[in-house]
Amino acid sequence: MQAIVLGSAAGGGVPQWNCRCPVCSLAWNGDSRVKARTQSSLAVSVDGSDWILVNASPDLRSQIADTADLHPRVEPRHSPIRAVLLTGGEVDNTAGLLTLRESQSFRLYGTEPVLAGLTQNPMFDVLGPSFVTREAVRLGQSFEPFEGLRITLVAAPGKVPLWLETEAPLIGEATDATVGVLMEAAGRRLAYVPGCAMVSEELRAWISGADVLFFDGTVLHDDDLIRAGVGAKTGWRMGHVPMAGENGSIAALAEVRVGRRIFVHINNTNPVLIEGSEERRLVERAGWTVAHDGLRIVL
Ligand SMILES: [Zn+2]
Repeated sequence: MQAIVLGSAAGGGVPQWNCRCPVCSLAWNGDSRVKARTQSSLAVSVDGSDWILVNASPDLRSQIADTADLHPRVEPRHSPIRAVLLTGGEVDNTAGLLTLRESQSFRLYGTEPVLAGLTQNPMFDVLGPSFVTREAVRLGQSFEPFEGLRITLVAAPGKVPLWLETEAPLIGEATDATVGVLMEAAGRRLAYVPGCAMVSEELRAWISGADVLFFDGTVLHDDDLIRAGVGAKTGWRMGHVPMAGENGSIAALAEVRVGRRIFVHINNTNPVLIEGSEERRLVERAGWTVAHDGLRIVL
């Protein structure tokens, strides 16, 4: 099994189009300590010719262009992308589906509420049913998008998409609105959790034993956005557990048996994005890798 981090940033990417937070400012200024990053997505393959995307980010077109493995190989029309799996219904998870129109066949997997979100937005009807098969997947039910790869979805504590939020949205509930993904091939296991509000006992249990874990690195501290002066929302309010602190993911996952630990879905306000910074060193000393676009992991 191999996985490519197509996009390692959270919503907005790095730099974000309207942002002058300290990290984005360095990126706009061309400072080599901050790499540009596109919005979160992962591509996974077993044989190198068939691929599944986990989430279709708004940057999908450029991510495909930058990744030779995903280029069409057969005239006149072809794509190695055989399937797309959605872990949530946010714009960040789904907007790239609009890039995948053009009458190309693939299967689209997600939980029932996530697929219902697409049905509510008629623009996604450009992915016509004669080409794109939508398959609702229940939590805990395994499926094989292609031979040799088994996928199971697990509830991740999170929240409903921003565009479906009510005045007081429930946060931290483990439902099928936000899911984690467990992939297994030839005895190797990959866990992908790009959005997670808190590290629960259940989460720890199913991550345990993974050869590689890709985990939500949106914020370093709960108040990153407030510290950066760009907003009033905490990590919790956005449905994301911080990396640092007593209840942060680094501490909460420290005792869990995992091969490699990699932060993905990193918001542009997060100072770990600055190479050589104290914050980056803290995360790396704890045994974590801060993902960059194009990072390839072979299992
Ligand atoms: Zn920023």
